[in-house]
Amino acid sequence: MTKEHILIIEDEEDILALVHYNLSKEGYRVSCATSGEEGLSAARGSHPDLILLDLMLPGMDGLEVCQALRRDPQSAATPVIMVTAKGEEADVIAGLELGADDYLAKPFSPRVLLSRIRAVLRRQSRNAEPEASVPLQFEDLTIHPGRNEVLVQGEPVELTFTEFRVLHFLASRPGWVFTRYQIVNAVRGDDYAVTDRAVDVQIVGLRKKLGPCGHYIETVRGVGYRFKD
Ligand code: CA
Repeated sequence: MTKEHILIIEDEEDILALVHYNLSKEGYRVSCATSGEEGLSAARGSHPDLILLDLMLPGMDGLEVCQALRRDPQSAATPVIMVTAKGEEADVIAGLELGADDYLAKPFSPRVLLSRIRAVLRRQSRNAEPEASVPLQFEDLTIHPGRNEVLVQGEPVELTFTEFRVLHFLASRPGWVFTRYQIVNAVRGDDYAVTDRAVDVQIVGLRKKLGPCGHYIETVRGVGYRFKD
């Protein structure tokens, strides 16, 4: 059985060769591009199932490529994993806000690369947008959006409206990294100005109230938060 088609956009030949080798070995169909422009036209022409996108590219950089992919209806839904160098948190944040699905910091091991790819493809094949009213169940934690109710080990937990919205937003997409700005945008109330800093305060409060389930909300250092997959 042929596995998914992955497009690698990467200008460093040794990394390209290494990634190509590991993905091919795993059975994926792999194609490569060494510049942003080339990658974009490959994405449009061959409809890959996933794109590994290096951020530092000569000419059109990864962020511009990501933005162009998202603007084009043909590639708007194609999962993108950004590949970044160490210390590029600002770019990671920008990329996530432009619609990238995840990121991978160099240097990475083949094992981490493959597990990220599998996770993103798995999410893609799942229904991306859960019904707003369907309860979410994670072992000891139950979230009832219809009732604004949260149960930890069967016991109700009192959350503020904003805490509830933050929790529900993150838990609706386990494994996805969200920036503070994305969280603010998603939970923005009508009467309550949520700021970047306020998101951190909400998270601290949430973890405390969730007690043994507080660990579900993970901090992604320098970037934001995610609900454990
Ligand atoms: Ca590069």
